[in-house]
Amino acid sequence: MRTLGLIGGMSWESTAHYYARINQLVAQRLGGLHSARLSLYSLDFEVLHKMQHADDWRGAAGLLITAVQCLERAGAEGLVICTNTMHKVAPEIEAAVKLPLIHIVDATADAIKHAGLETVALLGTRFTMEQDFYKQRLEQRHGLRVIIPDEDERHALHRIIFMELCKGEVRPDSRRLFLAVITRLAAAGAQGAILGCTEFSLFGVQDLPGIVLFDTTELHARTAVDWSLDGHHALLAEQKHI
Ligand code: GLU
Repeated sequence: MRTLGLIGGMSWESTAHYYARINQLVAQRLGGLHSARLSLYSLDFEVLHKMQHADDWRGAAGLLITAVQCLERAGAEGLVICTNTMHKVAPEIEAAVKLPLIHIVDATADAIKHAGLETVALLGTRFTMEQDFYKQRLEQRHGLRVIIPDEDERHALHRIIFMELCKGEVRPDSRRLFLAVITRLAAAGAQGAILGCTEFSLFGVQDLPGIVLFDTTELHARTAVDWSLDGHHALLAEQKHI
């Protein structure tokens, strides 16, 4: 089993979910008392949140690179950034460190393509919905068509993420709004919806009629476990060979 390096705390609410899912998936795959081999570096989110909202992405990249260097020293072999938004600085991280990055957009796009879909709605923070780093990778690398919520919806989703979900608050009116946005985008032509914020799992929505949901936390955790255990299988094969 390869050791995963998780950068978490963005927010810790979703990191807790990642930690649980990665361990559950390893236990399902290997049985017995198996659990994930991983290191976690959990940031103080208030510091990062201020940098994001001050447009200081260089500072934010620096924080994450420091985290990765610690994870590298702790023996991590592959990197999992436990947030969609901070994949904005994935190129800077990849340039600064040697660890392979298990990219959340690729994990999600692979599932969408596997489901045979072409047009997807993207819900997340304003950074994720409005800037190019996420949409462009979906469109240019994976050939998907992406539609995003309108201005008022984006504003509401961003507020719900930072003012409620990142603090562990799950409000029924916010959940209703979240579902209404997805339903509207389905009527506008989206075949699938990317739940492109790792806290959206807190709403506990598995299915909606007329549209396929892609939970990025779940898909990212699964891809990370596949990557980690491919190493395990490779090791078993090597041992047999010896
Ligand atoms: N976890 C969220 C995401 O997936 C938002 C927090 C952040 O800004 O990193 O984008």
